[in-house]
Amino acid sequence: MRRGELGESLGLEVELIDEGRPNRSGVPIRPEYLTIHNTSNTGSRADAKAHSKWVRKTGYYILRSGKKNWVSWHYTVDDMRVIQQLPASEKGWHAGKGNGVSLGIEICMHKEISQKAAYDRAARLCACLLYDFSLSVDAVVTHKHWTGKNCPVLLLKGNRWDKFRTSIEHYLNNITTESESTTETEEELAPIECTVKCDESYG
Ligand SMILES: [Zn+2]
Repeated sequence: MRRGELGESLGLEVELIDEGRPNRSGVPIRPEYLTIHNTSNTGSRADAKAHSKWVRKTGYYILRSGKKNWVSWHYTVDDMRVIQQLPASEKGWHAGKGNGVSLGIEICMHKEISQKAAYDRAARLCACLLYDFSLSVDAVVTHKHWTGKNCPVLLLKGNRWDKFRTSIEHYLNNITTESESTTETEEELAPIECTVKCDESYG
């Protein structure tokens, strides 16, 4: 499958956190890793739309000290869509020391979700991003990898992480190079809002 087609299959919607909000760092990054999270929110209708709204309108937790802990990440995935909250070239706050080198991907786990469909969509998103940033599947890591937190809580169970990685690898290995197709416009080839890197590779 061509990169453009795979990107179109994501159902990507862009709902960026407003610039100037405390959880928009404005700090440029060049992603070397994709950090995977589960939302840990099993509530009814706690889907990508709900999480996108939360991170744009609220975006912080209150710590025991009473201070606000601002958070942000790049993509929220459920079984219906992918919503982007930050440019892929900007630092988010989701993974401790992984923030400066990785893109944060939150996978929903609400009551009504088809979890399998959400993982499949997330795997396609990861494949597109790995392709765009010239990374291998080894660049896909867990939140736990950076901080020790038990996240992604569902994917860390049993052999699910291995299966998820295998699925990403499958999609990545089946992306045909864009040079094999010469008729598409740049817009069609780059449905994911991406950085200079994309312009370089498609230019
Ligand atoms: Zn996490």
